[in-house]
Amino acid sequence: MNKDFDRRDFLRLTGAAAALAAAGCATAPATKARVVVIGGGFGGATAAKYIRMWEPAIEVVMVERANIFTSCPISNLVLGGSKTMEDIRHRYDGLRKYGVQLVLDEATAVDAAKRVVKLERGGDLAYDRLIVAPGIDFMFNDISGYEDAMKANRVVHAWKAGAQTIALRKQLEGMKDGGVYVLSVPLAPYRCPPGPYERACQVASYFKKAKPRSKVLILDANPDVTSKGPLFKKAWAELYPGMIEFRGNSKAVGVDAKTGTVRLEVEDVRGDVLNVVPPHRAGDIAVKAGLITANNRWCGVDWRTMESTAVKGVHVLGDATLSAPLMPKSGAMANQHAKICAAAVVAMINGQAPNPEPKIANTCYSFVSDDEAIHVASVHTWDDKDKTLKTVPGSGGVSAARNELEGRYAWAWARNIWQDTLG
Ligand SMILES: Cc1cc2nc3c(=O)[nH]c(=O)nc-3n(C[C@H](O)[C@H](O)[C@H](O)COP(=O)(O)OP(=O)(O)OC[C@H]3O[C@@H](n4cnc5c(N)ncnc54)[C@H](O)[C@@H]3O)c2cc1C
Repeated sequence: MNKDFDRRDFLRLTGAAAALAAAGCATAPATKARVVVIGGGFGGATAAKYIRMWEPAIEVVMVERANIFTSCPISNLVLGGSKTMEDIRHRYDGLRKYGVQLVLDEATAVDAAKRVVKLERGGDLAYDRLIVAPGIDFMFNDISGYEDAMKANRVVHAWKAGAQTIALRKQLEGMKDGGVYVLSVPLAPYRCPPGPYERACQVASYFKKAKPRSKVLILDANPDVTSKGPLFKKAWAELYPGMIEFRGNSKAVGVDAKTGTVRLEVEDVRGDVLNVVPPHRAGDIAVKAGLITANNRWCGVDWRTMESTAVKGVHVLGDATLSAPLMPKSGAMANQHAKICAAAVVAMINGQAPNPEPKIANTCYSFVSDDEAIHVASVHTWDDKDKTLKTVPGSGGVSAARNELEGRYAWAWARNIWQDTLG
């Protein structure tokens, strides 16, 4: 056992023992250390699984508030109507065969000095190393009237797949032919740079079949389409002529539920369905754990280990991180962060040095119709001079053109990453 770890510490498990028992988890035999993971998304679930695969002597406890994994990737196709919620929901059971202990609960606080996570239903969960992968939460206060309008079901973000995906699809189905769907995009960085433009394609694809006089209006806080711009614009012009309008430099500052308008800095824009995506920051638990290091929003990490630059012994993954240069916030990246982290945690617990030069890659596919897709790819490697991950010159790129073969690759990508993340 690594001398950094105190055996008494990792055996401390008070009220959480009940939760573990309730989750059907057997107590692990003699272990080298316990790792607690907060969040079972693309980052957290992958890290939990890979630590167990690479070092079965480490006990891994994953705390997740949702009883089912709902994938944001492919959720836009649910809005388009070619897929259903069942296609994007996956059970967590697969992780059990790797010996990951699942706790269905909300992590409410972290005491890094005592190395304890507090749970909503009561009980403390002691850890030797903690992995925090909570994804994002929204900065609702940046858009006046948002929360009231959301409570009144007059605005949705649908930027966390789940109930809001269903609500948005229902609103689109209920909209009259000739209506206007407004999609407001926050300033980058936000999760999934091409996601809004894929959504515009999917909603237009539905309108083309079901209500062809309707319009998609994209109000983008960014000056231009932030990812795969020429490919998206070509798809809009050729597949949905006259249906999608893009307005750059159009940042939402308010929502008025009564008049059904999105307030921009210079004008008000009316719509029948308002899909306003607020700016994001790292998930609440990262804030409570003191992990935020940049702009009151994101968590700085050492990219060789994913260890927080603010709190020792705590690693942060996925969308919650302060992104390295040109690194998107994506499920693919969160899954790759998790592998850097899992390898580093296993090495550190075994008293070895983590890989000094990690390399990871990202591919994001976007469906521009039911079956045609486009992609963007990048490779990121450790840069010792600037102490961060940087893109490898000449690597990556975008599709030459949209086509059905890419659509098949996109499906294969989705099935692979769900399997890789959840077992
Ligand atoms: C519409 C849309 C389309 C997308 N398409 C793609 C795509 O095609 N490809 C791609 O790579 N990426 C895509 N993304 C981005 C991708 O979904 C995110 O980047 C990814 O989910 C980030 O993973 P994560 O693990 O950081 O966070 P999440 O996947 O959000 O996971 C965080 C988890 O933590 C849990 N949690 C948070 N706080 C707590 C707490 N206190 N206690 C217990 N549990 C907690 C949450 O319930 C959640 O399950 C898309 C996103 C959207 C919105």
